[in-house]
Order: sequence, then C-alpha cells, then structure tokens
Amino acid sequence: MTTDGLPMPVRDPALPDRVRIHEVGPRDGLQNEKAIVPVEVKADFVRRLADAGLRTIEATSFVRPEWVPQLADAEELLPLVEGLAENGVRLPVLVPNERGLDRALALGAREVAVFASATESFAKANLNRTVDASLAMFEPVVRRAKDEGARVRGYLSMCFGDPWEGPVPIERVADVGRRLYEMGCDELSLGDTIGVATPGHVTALLTAFTAAGVPTDHLAVHFHDTYGQALANTLTALRHGVTTVDASAGGLGGCPYAKSATGNLATEDLVWMLHGLGIETGVDLGRLTATSVWMAAHLGRPSPSRTVRAISHQES
Ligand code: MG
Repeated sequence: MTTDGLPMPVRDPALPDRVRIHEVGPRDGLQNEKAIVPVEVKADFVRRLADAGLRTIEATSFVRPEWVPQLADAEELLPLVEGLAENGVRLPVLVPNERGLDRALALGAREVAVFASATESFAKANLNRTVDASLAMFEPVVRRAKDEGARVRGYLSMCFGDPWEGPVPIERVADVGRRLYEMGCDELSLGDTIGVATPGHVTALLTAFTAAGVPTDHLAVHFHDTYGQALANTLTALRHGVTTVDASAGGLGGCPYAKSATGNLATEDLVWMLHGLGIETGVDLGRLTATSVWMAAHLGRPSPSRTVRAISHQES
C-alpha cells in the first residue's frame, strides 16, 4: 500500500489555525552539511522552496567565509533569489556582527538575524565572547538594522541543554532572551541546539518567557530531532500559543554537536503533523518532498526525514 502523501485533517480547537514555517534549510541546513553546494544549486533550492509555498526562507549567512565555507557565496546567492521578494517571500540572512550587517544591507537584505547563546560555554566556543560581551556586540547590529527598516530575528541557542554545561537553568535562558528582546529584536527563536528538550521543559521555558515580559507572539521555536522529540516539543509550543516554527527541508543539517544524522526538525515531518491537524501552512507537501529528494541527490545521501522517505519511498 502507498499513501497519497496527505494525512486526513482533524482539527484540534486548542491549536492555531495557521502556522508560519521559518525554513532554515539553505542556511542552518547547508551550513552543517559536509558537502559544499554550488551557488546555482542553492539558488534553485531557494526557488523550489518558495515554489513549494514556503514564505520565510533563511537564505544564507554573512559570516566570514573562512569560518563557514559552505556559505562563502552569500554575496553571489542573494542577487540570484532576491526577485522572490516580489512574490511575498521573506529572505532573512544571518549576520554575526556589524561587518556582516553592512554586507547584507548593501545587497538589499530586509530581514536579518543575530545568533546569541544562552550559555557561557557556547558563547565562548561559537562567538569567543562572554554572553554579556556578545549581547554588547549585537546591540549596535540590532539598532542599525532597525534604523534601516530591517526586521530582526534573535536566535537564542542552547536553551534546553549545552554540550559542555549540561542542563541550562530556565530563569537564565529567559533572562538572556529578555535582554535580546529588549534590545529590539522583533522575534526570538528559542533553539534546542542539541535536541535534548522534552515537552514539560518546553512549557516551563515558554512560561518563564511570559513571566520575563516577552510576549509569546514574538517567540519562535527551533527544535532538533536528535532524540526524536522535535514534534512533541513543537506541539507543546503550539498549545502555549507559539505560531512560528523553524524547520529544515528534508532535515538538512545533521547535529554538529551530537555527531548524529538527525538534527534540525524536517519541514516535511512538521507539515505532515500540521496538515493532519488541519493547520494551514501554505506548503505543498509533494513539491517540498520532491525538492528534498532532489537536494539529497546533490548531497549524496538520503534525507533523514521520515516523511520524505515515506512519500518518496526513498531508501534509508
Ligand atoms: Mg538548527
């Protein structure tokens, strides 16, 4: 028996009618893949994701090319895909500092993201700074981006656990997040960077953000499926009122800290659940799956997404 690729929708009145998917495959996904994908293939990837109905596609990162060689072609990529903005597609880009912001703004970026850490260990490892010093570095980036009329997303990583520190205190995460929000970020994306979160922890963290004064409609969630918990955690966040969910087409990205094949929540797995719940996403699951199968061929390995495998009959 084969499925036709569509679950039967059954509504749950406690859940939102619509969810905005923040697609991170071209940036967070490809950044963490070993293979370096040619810029024309990346541009096709972004176009195909847009064609599948995704309306927020994080396109690339303006980090120094020697740090992330997978995304060293940001300057070439953006002009190839900027026309999608006319069709209502948002193309945020990651900027690590003011220099990155300058490069992004020069290419007409209208939406940027900064990447902060809730823990000292990861701030040191990823940014070579303390948490306080990294927030001080982001402050002028956020201010200038806002002055230029750009929308700003603040990633907060290691919200649920840290590979060096272990469990991360909930109040600590909410405090760093509040500071990032008060700096002017329009949206915070709470990242479970090593995929250890479970649903009770999600509820507790979101409740702590509310108590810290960060409105839930300014929060997004970014779960990793390392331990198979990403959809359970996502559903929990939706019940709490979150309506923006990060996901990576085909589950691209692996998990750089757990050396596991499963990292980012696969967009197809998310869409299967949301459409099954009767929640609108605007995504055409068949087109999206075909895109991930196409990208898997470029990367030389099958997609880790269960839904991609089930729909495409792709062998694992
Ligand atoms: Mg990720």
